Amino acid sequence: MSALEERIAKLIAANGPLSIAQFMTIALHDPKDGYYATRDPFGSGGDFTTAPEISQMFGEMLGLWCVQVWHDQGKPAPVNLVELGPGRGTLMADALRAMRVAPEFLAALDVVLVEASPVLRDIQQAKLADCSVRLDWTDRFDASRLDRTLFLLANEFFDALPIRQFVRVGAGWRERMVTADANGRLSFVLSPVTADALVPAGRNAAPQGGVVETSPAATAMTEEISSAIAKHGGGALIVDYGYDAPGFGETLQAVESHSFAEVLADPGESDLSAHVDFSALANAARRGGAVPFGPTGQGPFLLDLGVATRAERLMQADPSVAAALDRLVNPQQMGSLFKALAIVADGASKPPGF
Ligand code: SAH
Repeated sequence: MSALEERIAKLIAANGPLSIAQFMTIALHDPKDGYYATRDPFGSGGDFTTAPEISQMFGEMLGLWCVQVWHDQGKPAPVNLVELGPGRGTLMADALRAMRVAPEFLAALDVVLVEASPVLRDIQQAKLADCSVRLDWTDRFDASRLDRTLFLLANEFFDALPIRQFVRVGAGWRERMVTADANGRLSFVLSPVTADALVPAGRNAAPQGGVVETSPAATAMTEEISSAIAKHGGGALIVDYGYDAPGFGETLQAVESHSFAEVLADPGESDLSAHVDFSALANAARRGGAVPFGPTGQGPFLLDLGVATRAERLMQADPSVAAALDRLVNPQQMGSLFKALAIVADGASKPPGF
């Protein structure tokens, strides 16, 4: 048993079962043994690969998206450009390079990287050391950067936010919790207390045993971002794997060395994530007073932004770009499961890609 598993079991013995959200928070972010706190999880030697790590084209397209939306809104200044969960800093490096087509935009920017992991923050600092824009880091998202025009990028960030799970039992709902037996072995258990008030309205068609997942952290954050955009302009672009219309299945998963693992088996050693409920994020955007566009598949989104033309250019020097393009846009690969959701102010023009 790992040190972290033992500590979680002791916590449960002392305080009772944890919600899945509490378990995820400890497993991912415990300062000593948490998954993100202790490693660089990306690439072929790591646990998973993300779009910016597949090709520079991904970050470039997102950078140009920001420039276009900024133009359409009459070039407001100053601007905060916030990235949530920047990983290795690759997306931001590629986006800032592409933004050189608009020096005025770069000059208006204050870049803020929101990163919980000290290991990844160091990697980002090294990667972005030569950028000639103002850069700042913060370890958690908060309202302090929301006082002016906001551009916000988040790729594979929302799937890492903690979720809660509710199971249909009889006419109501019970929360699924994490408990520990006398030997400290972790398992799921249903809370004896009703959770009816915590399940969004309209989900009562669930069959017995059906599961509803919610991410209060994701919806609260989206609402806050959206009200800043409604007030000060700009745009947010959220890209992730997820679903448009929620069903009654569970999507919480653990991934280790590019394979699925047991969710409770190895806290701190495997990446935990859940599919993003884009309809919940779109509703949160509306509650914040802004307008959501999408979600649309990553494939159609990138193709509409001109990724194929960019790929042709790059292919002249590097034929492997064809395979990277296919991975990003083919519906059998990342083109359909991965989706993009944009948020702009009411009355702003339709953002490109939607
Ligand atoms: N966007 C990057 C990395 C995705 S992995 C890419 O596409 O390659 C998720 C990232 O979010 C990691 O950088 C992780 O450390 C960070 N992260 C996860 N939860 C976070 C939280 N609550 N606050 C800040 N950063 C978080």
